[in-house]
Amino acid sequence: LFINIKKKMRKIRAHYIFDGYKLHKNATLVLDSDSKVIEITTSLEEEAGVEFYNGIVCPGFINAHCHLELSHLKTSIEQHTGLPGFISQVVKRRSEIPFSEQACLEADESMKKNGIVAVGDISNASESYAVKLNSSIYYHTFIEVFDLHSNTAEVYNTAKKQYKETPFKKSKSIVPHAPYSCSKKLIARIAAHSKDHEYPISIHNQEHNSENLLYKNKTGELYENFIKVGVDFSNFASTNKSSLQSYLPLLPKEQHVLLVHNVYTNQSDIDFLKSLRDNNEFTLVLCPLSNLYIGNSLPPLELFITNSLPIAIGTDSLASNTNLSVLDELKCLQNNFAEITLEQLLQAATSNGAHALQVNHTFGSFKAGKKAGVNLLEHVDLQNIKLKDETTVRVLA
Ligand SMILES: [Zn+2]
Repeated sequence: LFINIKKKMRKIRAHYIFDGYKLHKNATLVLDSDSKVIEITTSLEEEAGVEFYNGIVCPGFINAHCHLELSHLKTSIEQHTGLPGFISQVVKRRSEIPFSEQACLEADESMKKNGIVAVGDISNASESYAVKLNSSIYYHTFIEVFDLHSNTAEVYNTAKKQYKETPFKKSKSIVPHAPYSCSKKLIARIAAHSKDHEYPISIHNQEHNSENLLYKNKTGELYENFIKVGVDFSNFASTNKSSLQSYLPLLPKEQHVLLVHNVYTNQSDIDFLKSLRDNNEFTLVLCPLSNLYIGNSLPPLELFITNSLPIAIGTDSLASNTNLSVLDELKCLQNNFAEITLEQLLQAATSNGAHALQVNHTFGSFKAGKKAGVNLLEHVDLQNIKLKDETTVRVLA
């Protein structure tokens, strides 16, 4: 009886095991009774109790950018309006459609089914906290603020209070929403707080070209739209530089920075970024399906690959996506950028995301002792090592 109720070790064999960094052909992943990794072996001996799967086995996916609290806005925002139009729609629809905990629960549940084990999640309010606390998914909460260039300490003080009072012990940060919505002063205050509390900083970066125009010379659609609704830009001084080159020096080098979107990031921005930070000190988080939904545009991935920059994957929210699936984002990148390899894509979806959220002690790879989650990718093109449109993900552990 004792033997029957004791959970057993598992041996999972597949055409390929991706360990978080590279593919191993015809390998076997060995897990202990608690689903922690023991080892990856390539012995092909017939053994009793080996589970064999057709496809590629990889660690659980990391969704490095989401807004769970916007889940109730699914299908309520018009597509392809561009970022300025998207912002006004979200503000309007958020005031019309009440927050729904049920929508958050369903989104959380669908992420589990889609093989996601850890999420970097933006919260403007505390409404989604209960769902995050009770989920088996690991959440890092980014408490997101903006002051629309008012320069007052009030926004920051409220965020500090929220940071203290959140029910999350360590997996939390205060973060600036975007360069176009936060004053230099607010970013500097958050930077000091992040240094004291040693957390990663996330910021929506260069999602729309008019963010760069605002910084360059106070022109462009974002600037004009904000002026129309009465935002006061008298405190804001243009810099004659892109947004990234204007605000990045404010963020402490010791704190990891997640730059989200990067649709309008160019080579001179990359050179600037590289001059300030080493590759392990920042991550470019790409949310291609959200970029297509909002602006029908994509980030210059070939430029990021040529420069060997670290890339992670985000789904963004259901306000700008139809599904919260890291696999769908990978398919979108592969379909639009033929030069990216499946190893690079899977690394973005696993170890790079885990590094960005500072959870690589548990997630992102099959190093011995980790409980990273185990996904099986089925219906993969194993000849060319590519995803297919019909590729699916199944959670094995
Ligand atoms: Zn976002």
